[in-house]
Amino acid sequence: MVRWAAKRVFLMLEIAVFSGLAPFLASAQVEPRFGPLPVFEFHSGFWVNLHHELYFEARDRLNKTPPPARSGSTLQNKVRTMQDLASTLTPVEQAAWENAIKYYVVNYSDKDLLFNLDLILLKNQLGDFEDCDELSGVHKKTCDAGLPGNITQVLDAVAPIYRAHLWPDQDRANRRWVARVSPLVEEQGAGISQRLADIYQAKWPDYKIRVDVTAHANWAGAYTTLDPLRVTISSTDAANQGDAALEVLFHEASHGIAEPVQNAIARECRQRDKPIPRDLWHALIFYTTGEVLKPLLSNSPTKTPADRRSSDPLHPDRPAGNDKDEYIPYVVREGLYERGWNTYLPLLTRFWQPYLDGTATFDDAIARMVSSL
Ligand SMILES: [Zn+2]
Repeated sequence: MVRWAAKRVFLMLEIAVFSGLAPFLASAQVEPRFGPLPVFEFHSGFWVNLHHELYFEARDRLNKTPPPARSGSTLQNKVRTMQDLASTLTPVEQAAWENAIKYYVVNYSDKDLLFNLDLILLKNQLGDFEDCDELSGVHKKTCDAGLPGNITQVLDAVAPIYRAHLWPDQDRANRRWVARVSPLVEEQGAGISQRLADIYQAKWPDYKIRVDVTAHANWAGAYTTLDPLRVTISSTDAANQGDAALEVLFHEASHGIAEPVQNAIARECRQRDKPIPRDLWHALIFYTTGEVLKPLLSNSPTKTPADRRSSDPLHPDRPAGNDKDEYIPYVVREGLYERGWNTYLPLLTRFWQPYLDGTATFDDAIARMVSSL
């Protein structure tokens, strides 16, 4: 029922696009949130998308190079930016957009979306005001977002330009992504969240986790901020497509519940007078999400070519062998073990996997991993 309702909105949008009604719908307020689904609440919010667009273009302007490309992301599609559409903008629009980019270059481009408190607060506030057409409260008092500095004027000034030129395509890409992952969330979401909470000896949040779907997220394609727990995920990143979308969602959500793992690793390290290994907990949640989802997604009829790459972490470019329908976890497909986590994989398979299989305890598994470091 629910799925059909969500699909109907999406279908209406598609029909409108093909029947020439797109300009009307692009300017009309299309409901930014989807649902209801279990576990997650998806949003394709105008302001959060505009903010990430400006941040992305500002960093691009400065040639802030991202970390080396993930090996699996060879299918990366180029996402159109305002620069690609420059010839279609009026001089006034160009100048306004340029001003906004400059503001982002000066104020935000050297800050990290994941770690900088100003950027985290701004992103969350923009999400909360997604139903507003402007952020100053001039037309509607409840739309005064009370944002710091001049960011309100900056965003309000370029909102019509973004809405006219980039937003319709980006919103459509976001909605397409949500429509694709929603059936998986509906079928598997509750079970996976329970299993992950059990594994991490944690409680899954009793509220729906907000997921902001955006054309651009951060360099990793998705990131999660805490208090409140919110996920931002790119609908256009090649690594987030197909069945992998479900894994990325649960990996990100695990950031919010895997604290007991971090604490246990730190405790064991202190007891053995060892330095706390950087990122072991992160490799562990990647590994765990992949292993939990593998049996559920293998032989999935929705698999894409990106899902079918080699499961051999030492030879990620090698095509999958006989078992072509086995789901390849993100950490393997994107070559993360080769990028500094190679020592973690044997520890995880030797000591953590028995815990996942029910033949070791949580504490023993962590203790053995740490003592073997
Ligand atoms: Zn992560």
